Amino acid sequence: MLTLEYCRQLDAVDPLAGMKQQFALPDNTIYLDGNSLGARPKSASARAQAVVEQEWQQDLISSWNKNQWWNLPLNIGNKVAQVVGAKEGEVAITDTTSTNLFKVLATALRIQSEASSERKIIIAEREAFPTDLYIIQGMSEWLNQGYQLQLISGPEELQAALNEQVAAVVLSHVNYRTGYLWPMQDTTAAIHAHGGLVIWDLCHSIGAVDIDLNGADADFAIGCTYKYLNGGPGAPAMVWVPAKHVNRCAQPLSGWWGHAQPFEMATDYAPAAGIRRYLSGTQPITSLALVECGIDVHLQADMPKIRAKSLAMTDLFIALVEQECANHPLEMITPREHAVRGSHVSLKHEHGFAIIQALIARGVIGDYREPEVMRFGITPLYLSFEDVWHAVQHLKDILDNKTWDTPEFHRRGEVT
Ligand SMILES: *Cc1c(COP(=O)(O)O)cnc(C)c1O
Repeated sequence: MLTLEYCRQLDAVDPLAGMKQQFALPDNTIYLDGNSLGARPKSASARAQAVVEQEWQQDLISSWNKNQWWNLPLNIGNKVAQVVGAKEGEVAITDTTSTNLFKVLATALRIQSEASSERKIIIAEREAFPTDLYIIQGMSEWLNQGYQLQLISGPEELQAALNEQVAAVVLSHVNYRTGYLWPMQDTTAAIHAHGGLVIWDLCHSIGAVDIDLNGADADFAIGCTYKYLNGGPGAPAMVWVPAKHVNRCAQPLSGWWGHAQPFEMATDYAPAAGIRRYLSGTQPITSLALVECGIDVHLQADMPKIRAKSLAMTDLFIALVEQECANHPLEMITPREHAVRGSHVSLKHEHGFAIIQALIARGVIGDYREPEVMRFGITPLYLSFEDVWHAVQHLKDILDNKTWDTPEFHRRGEVT
């Protein structure tokens, strides 16, 4: 029998318990949506104020040099590199995950087409976050060279689909809906065995799961900084291209920020060496600067500790739901096995949407994804084991008393 007392004991010996102090959260809130929009590091306010009132207002144009604005995408990239197993100079923070996928997919297809004209298949997951599928569809149709998107579900279907016609495979390291975690090293090796290139979308794993891109010999990676990395709403995304690929070709969004000599104002494009060529145009400096606040907090805690706490908390959440809500028709779609579980737990219920609204009304913030999926994100840096206890008690109470069943909790806003 799990008790509140037991949860408090886990908090008492939690090596990351003090990290919560570095985040600003509203009072009376248990925030289980950090996998969608991470909480604000306290340091972000002062940083935002310094960027706006000192660097922009006082230093004006000199900030490009004086305040390192020009190098910010690569300087912060070097910090993010440390949580994904990348080397210095391999990561840039720029644009969005969607745009970065476009760039690396184009590169992967170019590299493959130079070796063989036979590779025309792009594999992705049927359950992928839709923007990834839309970008692949957009690129295939726009290129008009016979590229075909083939959808698969899970490792067995992937294995069956791999052959000498496959150019690239785009996989979400952690699935946004189920929380399934692909084994990165083995999957990469299986794709390479057939000559394919892999693009890992790290949106739901970066900052929550140990990642070793170079150790896995991966080809490309992209991912959000506004989820588990707490970079702020709409913060620019990461893109990783390792030394083995980065200088093989230019990417197609060949803007001046990726030019070898941007201030020569030359007529012809010449790509910069290294990851800088993955920049396109002028960066959103105010929001980019705040990404550093999030990654700086992460670098104070080591990833194995974050991962260990994440697994302990998702274990606790699952066990408490089973103990407290056993008489309700909840179906867990998140894998139980640690090796293939990310950092959120998803429960299906016919009235999932209304139940989530009822939880939010009590300050327990999770979210809802079609169809019928209630998603509870576990962010080890600012959640306690006691928070997990209280969240499940609220869920139990809402289910037991059917408090979700009112018109107000069935109404849908534009964003769900
Ligand atoms: C959140 C998320 C995105 C978001 O992409 P944006 O370009 O930032 O809108 C993309 N892919 C996955 C897997 C995600 O979870």
